[in-house]
Amino acid sequence: MIILKKGREAPLKKGHPWIFSGAISNVDGEDGDILPVQSAQGEHLGYGFYQGKSSLALRMITFDKREPLLVIEEKLKRALLIRQSLFDNERTTGYRLVNAEGDGLSGLIIDRYKDTLVIQIGTIGFEKLKFWLVEKLHSLMPLACIYEKSDSSSRKQEGLSPSHKILYGNLLDPIEIMEEGLKFKVFVQEGQKTGFFLDQREMRKKIMALSLGKSVLNAFSYTGAFTVYAMKGGAKFVDSVDVSKQAIEWSRENCRINGINLSDAHFISIDAFRYLEKVDKKYNLIILDPPAFAKKEKDKEAAFRAYRELNYLAMQRLKKNGILLTSSCSYYMDEALFTRSVQEAALRSGKDASIIGRHILAEDHPISLTHPEGSYLKSLLVSVNKNS
Ligand code: SAH
Repeated sequence: MIILKKGREAPLKKGHPWIFSGAISNVDGEDGDILPVQSAQGEHLGYGFYQGKSSLALRMITFDKREPLLVIEEKLKRALLIRQSLFDNERTTGYRLVNAEGDGLSGLIIDRYKDTLVIQIGTIGFEKLKFWLVEKLHSLMPLACIYEKSDSSSRKQEGLSPSHKILYGNLLDPIEIMEEGLKFKVFVQEGQKTGFFLDQREMRKKIMALSLGKSVLNAFSYTGAFTVYAMKGGAKFVDSVDVSKQAIEWSRENCRINGINLSDAHFISIDAFRYLEKVDKKYNLIILDPPAFAKKEKDKEAAFRAYRELNYLAMQRLKKNGILLTSSCSYYMDEALFTRSVQEAALRSGKDASIIGRHILAEDHPISLTHPEGSYLKSLLVSVNKNS
């Protein structure tokens, strides 16, 4: 049982799933247990996972009296049904099946790549439930493999070490998935995150629609997903830049399996800042999708300057009436601050810039209305003109 301090039940009353350690007065239970939660007045508030080592000490599962394991199972089923209704499996076989708080399952992320699930367990609560979870997932859908790739920072705070291993079946790596009818190899073990950046799907479609006849730079290209969409959208050529030689190899491979003419797709393994500083070419369309520059709250100021610099450099490399797609996946940079970094970049480069689009959420990454913190990814589509 967890008893909260007086008046500290307010977030739970609004459906927010988190309680920090300072709001708790009494705990009777172990780390990772699912415990009933009460207000100081003895009102039952629901059930949650307790993790005493973390400042985020309580993550709610349900706000009522229902049996918590049954609720988790219901939420898994619902998450699957929603995804099945969203995607035509003839065209898209890779999607996020469970998006943590967005699916009411704080601490759990599951990506589906065809008949393989890659799961990221961020809390000791789900760590303890791991084998129960494997059994439930297995009973919900036909699966060849469940692979665990748990290495989030929340895990460290809870005293858990990273865990990369097969939990069920055999892993075929890379896995070839389809997204919008295009093919992508997902490198589960060696790749970043669970292997593929599913969260940019809608912006990739946007880029495809804008690419006809354009010269395109895809900076921070990873496995070349934006590159493939731009080429398929009729780009004149696409230059893909990533600091990782391995990622560059994988981008080339993803272009090849989509039948893209490799003489129009160029791959450069270099730091993107350096590339933008030294290249003398200009582009019609530039995509910037860097890794998170602010991984902690205290990095925010330095990250702001880095985004401003990056966007400034990119604006310098745009042709007349160019378009910039610029993204930030830093949770600690909110949209207003990120927008200000782009605005200052435009000012410094003497450009007249207007926002012509914003990030479109990939539907398999729901954000709960009671947990807006789940919205970490921001993108601005900016039309950049010379100041007249
Ligand atoms: N847009 C991609 C995802 C980008 S992930 C997609 O849709 O799939 C970020 C990428 O940036 C990674 O591949 C990483 O290798 C690369 N990266 C990190 N720092 C970099 C730098 N300084 N210069 C160029 N690439 C960098």
